[in-house]
Amino acid sequence: MKVLGANVFLATQGKSGVGAVQESSTAPCISNCPDAKAAPSGKTTGPGDLNDQNDSSRDCTPWDTDGDTLHEECGVFGVIGAKGAVNIAALGLHALQHRGQEAVGITTYDGEEFYSQKGLGHVTHVFGEMDLDEVLPGQMASGHVRYSTTGGSGLRNVQPLFADLETGGFSIAHNGNLTNATKLRRELVRDGAIFQSTSDTEVIIHLVATSRYPTLLDRFVDALRMVDGAYSLICMTKEGMIACRDPLGVRPLVMGRIGDATVFASETVALDVIGAEFIRSIEPGELVEVGHDGTVSRHRPFTRMSPRPCIFEHVYFSRPDSVMDGRSVYAVRKEIGVELAKEAPAEADLVVPVPDSGVPAAIGYAQQSGLPFELGIIRSHYVGRTFIQPSDGARHSGVKRKHNANRAIVKGKRIILIDDSIVRGTTSLKIVEMMRDAGAAEVHMRIASPPTGHSCFYGVDTPERSKLLAAKMDVEEMARFIKADSLAFVSIDGLYRAVGESGRDSNCPQFCDACFSGEYPTELTDLNEREAHDLLTLPVNRVA
Ligand code: SF4
Repeated sequence: MKVLGANVFLATQGKSGVGAVQESSTAPCISNCPDAKAAPSGKTTGPGDLNDQNDSSRDCTPWDTDGDTLHEECGVFGVIGAKGAVNIAALGLHALQHRGQEAVGITTYDGEEFYSQKGLGHVTHVFGEMDLDEVLPGQMASGHVRYSTTGGSGLRNVQPLFADLETGGFSIAHNGNLTNATKLRRELVRDGAIFQSTSDTEVIIHLVATSRYPTLLDRFVDALRMVDGAYSLICMTKEGMIACRDPLGVRPLVMGRIGDATVFASETVALDVIGAEFIRSIEPGELVEVGHDGTVSRHRPFTRMSPRPCIFEHVYFSRPDSVMDGRSVYAVRKEIGVELAKEAPAEADLVVPVPDSGVPAAIGYAQQSGLPFELGIIRSHYVGRTFIQPSDGARHSGVKRKHNANRAIVKGKRIILIDDSIVRGTTSLKIVEMMRDAGAAEVHMRIASPPTGHSCFYGVDTPERSKLLAAKMDVEEMARFIKADSLAFVSIDGLYRAVGESGRDSNCPQFCDACFSGEYPTELTDLNEREAHDLLTLPVNRVA
C-alpha cells in the first residue's frame, strides 16, 4: 500500500421598526469569523433606513441509478418590466433545469391579478404545449425549478408559493434550505397557522403574514431575521419584485437586464440564454426591490457577515458556462484538475473523464500532467427518465445504456478516471468495473473535490451521513471499496486555490465547505427536530 499524499492511497486491487431587531438571534455559529463589516448601529425605523441606496440540462444525473449523487435542489428566476414575461421566465427556467428536474412553476402578475401554473416534470413537459401568454399574462413573472427538497415532491410543495396577505398577493420562490424551519413551523402551528405544504419556504410566508410591521417590505425583513440557513429568494407583490440573498450568500443569485426589464436568476447561464446582460451578483445579505416603473432600491437590512457561498456550486452544481461570484465555473473546474494533477499524479496512459461533470477537471488534469485526454466513456443522450427499467438481474446493463466504456480507447491502457465527487461509492465501483471489463490495465480514480463526509443542510439533497462513503471509510478503504488501483481527492486547500484563494482560511473560511469539513456556518436547529411531518399527516404523494 503506497501513500501518495494526505488524501491519496493505492489499493492492492482495486419591534419599533424592523431596524430595531437588527441584532437578531440569527447570528451564525462562525465564532472564529469576525463580523469585520458589522452594520452600523443607530436608530432605524425600517429596512429602508439601513444603508438604503437607490440605483436606477444537465439531465437527471445519468449515473444516479441508486441515489448515489448529490442534487442541487432548486433554481429560481424572475423578470419584471417585460412584455410576455412568462416566455422569458420559461426560457430562463429551462436554462436552470439542471438545478431541479422534478417540478416547475411560474407565477405572473398583469397589474390586477396573479396567475400561477405548476406541474411535475421538466419545463418543456409542463409548459411546452401551453399557450403561455394566454394562461400566464403580465409583465412580471417568477419561476422555480425544483428537485424534491424539504417536504417531498408533491404538487403542493411546487413553487412559487402564493398567499393573499393583508398587504395583498405575495409569491415566493426559494433556492436553499432553512435550518430552523421545523422549529418555527411548530411555533406557528401552535399559534394557529394552517400550513398547506410541507415546504420550509411556507414558514417565511406565515412569518410575513403574522408580522406586526405595517409594510410588506418591513414584514418580509422581519420574517427573514427569524430564519436561519440558506435562501436566495425571488418574491412578487403587486408593487413589484423583491430579490434577496441570505447574509452568508450560501446559494447564488444574479441580476441582469434585457431591454427595460430587470431579471434575477440563480445562475448567469439563464441570463445568457434569454439574451440578457449580466449586471452583477446580488450580494450576501442584500435585498433588491424593483418597482413596475423600473426603479431599483437596494437594502442591507441584516447584520453583515463574512460571506460563505457554497463551494460545491463550483465543483458540481452550477453549469460550467455560468459565472459564479465573478469566477467562471468552467475555469475553476479546470483549475481543480490542475491542482489534482499536482497533488496526486499517477503513472498512466490516458486521462478519462466521467461524463459530463468530470470533463473540465479532466482537461485540467491532462494539461497539467501532459497525458492525453480521451473520451473513454461515452454517454448516451437518448436515455430519458421514463425508460423501462430492467429487472434487478440486468441492473448493470442499465448503467451501460446511459454510459458505456469506449473499449477501443481504454483496452490495455492505464487509465486516470476523473469524477467530481464520491457520495455512496456504488457508482464509482460500477464505473471502475466498467473500465476493467473494457480491458483497462489499471484504473486510478481522481476526485475533483475533497471527501464528502458530511450532509448538506443548505439546499442540496445529500444522503444521511451514515450513507456517505467518506463518513465510514478512510481513503485507503474507499479505494478498496471501489476496486480502484489508486484513489485520490483534491485537498481542501487545493480546492480553495482553484477558486482563486491562496488556501482555506481556517479561522474564517471563505466558503461554506461543510460537506467536506463538517464546519457548518449556521445553527442547525432542526437537526434535533425530526418530527416535522407529524405536523402534516396527509402525505404529499396523495395530493394531486
Ligand atoms: Fe455547499 Fe456543501 Fe455547504 Fe451544502 S454543505 S452549501 S453542498 S458546501
